[in-house]
Amino acid sequence: MANSKYEYVKSFEVEDEIMFPNLIVVRVGGRHFQRFSEVHEFEKPNDEKALKLMSLCATSVLQEYPDIVFSFGFSDEYSFVFKQTTKFYQRRASKVVSIMVSFFTSVYVTKWKEFFPDKKLKYPPSFHARPIVCASLEVLQEYLAWRQQHCHITNQHNTCLWELVKSGKTEKEALDILKGTHKQERNELLFQQFGINYRTLPQMFRQGSCVLKTEVEGIVKYSENGTPIKRMRKDPTTVHSKNIAGRSFWNEHQSLLKE
Ligand code: ATP
Ligand code: ATP
Ligand code: MG
Ligand code: MG
Ligand code: MG
Repeated sequence: MANSKYEYVKSFEVEDEIMFPNLIVVRVGGRHFQRFSEVHEFEKPNDEKALKLMSLCATSVLQEYPDIVFSFGFSDEYSFVFKQTTKFYQRRASKVVSIMVSFFTSVYVTKWKEFFPDKKLKYPPSFHARPIVCASLEVLQEYLAWRQQHCHITNQHNTCLWELVKSGKTEKEALDILKGTHKQERNELLFQQFGINYRTLPQMFRQGSCVLKTEVEGIVKYSENGTPIKRMRKDPTTVHSKNIAGRSFWNEHQSLLKE
């Protein structure tokens, strides 16, 4: 209703455009997933199916929104990076964040039974999300380094925790043992008590997962005489990389942000 006497109320909407040339990142994370993972009996410390469901949700986000070019995630979270020139919803933070978190959540719920055919979803899960404004590629790299470090530290901690629990300790006792330990001490605990070399655990657990768009040649259709007609298209692929924030990784993938 344009020009009605109520029109002025529109000016009360929060203005939250994220200005170019800042890079827009949105982090989506499971809300109360500690409880959700217990109620749904996730394998501890890493339920592979749950991680793959998260990764599928991230891939669906990249397929649905072409302006999102890169994603990194682990556990119950994924961060999404937009290309620098995006004009998605006039770069309005609340619009962008709400669209992504609701899409992510509905894919999670819709695809649940494909990953857990024998587990009923006992209640509707929810996710929270927030925008992160990165003023430069360097800031983006630091942000990603921070998330990947978090992935590493929590995974190493949880691996120790659940090995101790499996060996007969209560969760409280295990937590007390781990309190104040350093990275190196935890590696030694795993090796000496359980014969586990941390570095040989799956990359997906230790380093998280990246979803990014890479060019692949795909068949778009067949001509009348049956010859396949091919074209380059960008498809999201999942990779695990030791150092997603490292220069070499971004030298290889920097063009992503520049489209
Ligand atoms: P918040 O609502 O603040 O995000 P939270 O309960 O979700 O709180 P987080 O710090 O986000 O807590 O941690 C996620 C929790 O979900 C951890 O306890 C983690 O063990 C569990 N979790 C998530 N994914 C998996 C998985 N694939 N396998 C096992 N546990 C998982
Ligand atoms: P935006 O993405 O900005 O929200 P929109 O396309 O969703 O745009 P709205 O102004 O939110 O547009 O209007 C909602 C649209 O959905 C209208 O076109 C309306 O006709 C349709 N719609 C919503 N609920 C119903 C309903 N119960 N029955 C029929 N149509 C509906
Ligand atoms: Mg969470
Ligand atoms: Mg989390
Ligand atoms: Mg609408």
